[in-house]
Amino acid sequence: MNQGKQIVDRLENEKRISCEALRELLETRDEDTREYLRKRAEAVRRGIYGNAVYIRGLIEFTNYCKNDCYYCGIRRSNRHARRYRLCEEEILNCCKTGYELGFRTYVLQGGEDLYYTKQRLCDIIKTIKSGYPDCAITVSFGEQSEDFYKKLYAAGADRYLLRHETADESHYGKLHPKEMSFTNRIECLQRLKEIGYQVGCGFMVGSPYQTVETLHQDLEFIRTFLPHMVGIGPFIPHKDTPYADRAAGTLEATLTLLSIIRLLHPHVLLPATTALGSIHPFGREKGVLAGANVVMPNLSPVDVREKYLLYDNKICTGEEAAEGLWKMKRRMNQIGYQVVTDRGDYK
Ligand code: SAM
Repeated sequence: MNQGKQIVDRLENEKRISCEALRELLETRDEDTREYLRKRAEAVRRGIYGNAVYIRGLIEFTNYCKNDCYYCGIRRSNRHARRYRLCEEEILNCCKTGYELGFRTYVLQGGEDLYYTKQRLCDIIKTIKSGYPDCAITVSFGEQSEDFYKKLYAAGADRYLLRHETADESHYGKLHPKEMSFTNRIECLQRLKEIGYQVGCGFMVGSPYQTVETLHQDLEFIRTFLPHMVGIGPFIPHKDTPYADRAAGTLEATLTLLSIIRLLHPHVLLPATTALGSIHPFGREKGVLAGANVVMPNLSPVDVREKYLLYDNKICTGEEAAEGLWKMKRRMNQIGYQVVTDRGDYK
């Protein structure tokens, strides 16, 4: 057996990987090794989740943001961003459309917009929960106080997505301005877990200054923190940010990391992200075949989708759109998977 396959077997058995082994898997050009890794990850995923693909209806409720992350298209310094925020009625309309289409999870994602106070967001969550008690609500609204997180949870939020972005503090400092704190981000994740949320962390693949060493720290963080969800997708540059000229993360590296994460943490909920679908026409299918088990079609009103522009060339009106769900279902069927109407909780 070649060295790459031995690494994959060791990863599957020991549920951890060394930095050298990670380098080997990321740099190998050996198709047998790549295919072996993919197949092992797919088998592990099928053993737990069968051929089900869970869907989440993504509602991008605001693109105002008080933060200035160097990579992000909705950072506060981007004067070209066309800002919007959805009112409660618009958000509820998205939920209604989504419910009829078969969504049983709503993901409320937004920039850190101070307009959405604890009270406003709690009211929205309570209204959604009372209208759709069989649905899960995921919030992705950045770093907030412990009390903020607790109130949202009490109002009915079930899950929280907060990518850690990088588990290496000095790398974090190259992606974010000084006023943003690595320690606070990690503490937020810990608090969220303690409160009882199903928690998602994650990172961009190929972000500026990322190295095999920083990626290894990301995997170690995932291995020890054991989140319920991990969101990874390629970094894609946005023309109006300081990292406009940086190269995007690659399809290959993203697929390799999806498979590694599946083997490291077999039960994790792992989306094939919109960013992956944006760099390759079959990015999401390839993601699912590499071990992902979630897709997040866009439920936001059509006119705001192109304003929630985190990176250039974001796809937003095809099968990644909620109304194009039938196309997504067909594409998943074609690769032997089935989109299900289910909350899709962590098993
Ligand atoms: N404000 C919330 C937060 O900080 O978690 C949620 C919104 S934030 C825009 C969602 C995620 O988008 C980030 O965690 C980041 O990883 C991703 N993102 C931002 N800019 C990106 C880019 N240029 N390429 C790929 N992903 C990006």
